[in-house]
Amino acid sequence: MALIDSFGRAIRYLRVSVTDRCNLQCDYCRPAGEPILPTHEQLLTLEEIARLGRIFVGLGIDRIRLTGGEPLLRRNLVTLVGNLAAIPGLHELSLTTNALLLDRFALALRQAGLQRVNISLDTLDPATFFRITQGGDVLRVLAGIEAAVAAGLHPVKINMVVMRGVNDHEIPNMIAFAVQHGLVLRFIETMPVGRAGLNSAERYVSADEIVALARAGDGQEWIPVLHPKEQGSGPARYFRIPGSMAEVGIISARSRHFCDTCNRMRLTSRGELVLCLGGMDQVDLKTSMRGGATDAELAALILDAVLRKPQRHHFELGADSGSAWNMSGLGG
Ligand code: SAM
Repeated sequence: MALIDSFGRAIRYLRVSVTDRCNLQCDYCRPAGEPILPTHEQLLTLEEIARLGRIFVGLGIDRIRLTGGEPLLRRNLVTLVGNLAAIPGLHELSLTTNALLLDRFALALRQAGLQRVNISLDTLDPATFFRITQGGDVLRVLAGIEAAVAAGLHPVKINMVVMRGVNDHEIPNMIAFAVQHGLVLRFIETMPVGRAGLNSAERYVSADEIVALARAGDGQEWIPVLHPKEQGSGPARYFRIPGSMAEVGIISARSRHFCDTCNRMRLTSRGELVLCLGGMDQVDLKTSMRGGATDAELAALILDAVLRKPQRHHFELGADSGSAWNMSGLGG
């Protein structure tokens, strides 16, 4: 069983935002004064998320990633992880987090069935981190990374959004940090998603430039790595750093889009199924669910929605890209 869209792509990956709240305010992600948070009533309950999870997996989704906002702020997240991990047919359950609270939760999450984490970390410099996140303490993130590794969440991937004049000079340091700690580092181009994303477009650094900055100094050729598991299912291109076992990935959503292999959809914390990060089309599953829809009726809605997934985003058009979502509400 697989969800096939109208361009023949098999959709196997669902990102689920469990909250719009965040304990950081990264200036490229979350515009000042926003978002208007959902009320308790508007949020999907954990039971509703688990029910939708079962329906999606029944339709062929085999990977779920929990995100937010900051997912670790959602109360009883460990219970949700346990309930999702128990769904037969779900092969991978992962989490994207800023890791501020991860030292408290890593082991319990692992024991509940979480397999791996992606941690957002744009800088190792405490002052720069404080500035980008508007008040965050990078030491908390480092403690979270250590806890994730110790808990056996593997691999631990670090996502670094590269921004001109902000952290682009830190690329070599970040690589050294990743090599030292056995982490998979991924560089991400800024995306013009939501008002904050549009505002940060002027700091955009292309993937080619990121590679050039990373290799400046060592001058060695990076060796492209093909991951059978990632091929066609992940957006990153991976390279091995010569002289080490470490790998870095580049996610070039803008300069070299990977829409033809897109395999994902997103579920917001309010129960809207979002078909593309670069478009506004969505299907409200919560209202149908609360109106008494059966599992079969919800599955039919999802099957219909998949056929509306657009062929690609148009981030290259910047402000006209058609996406007014806030990344903090969609989960990246
Ligand atoms: N709070 C969690 C975290 O910090 O990882 C999960 C949510 S956050 C929205 C998910 C990812 O989206 C982060 O890695 C963040 O860097 C990325 N992101 C947010 N806005 C972005 C933008 N405009 N361009 C590229 N990546 C962005």
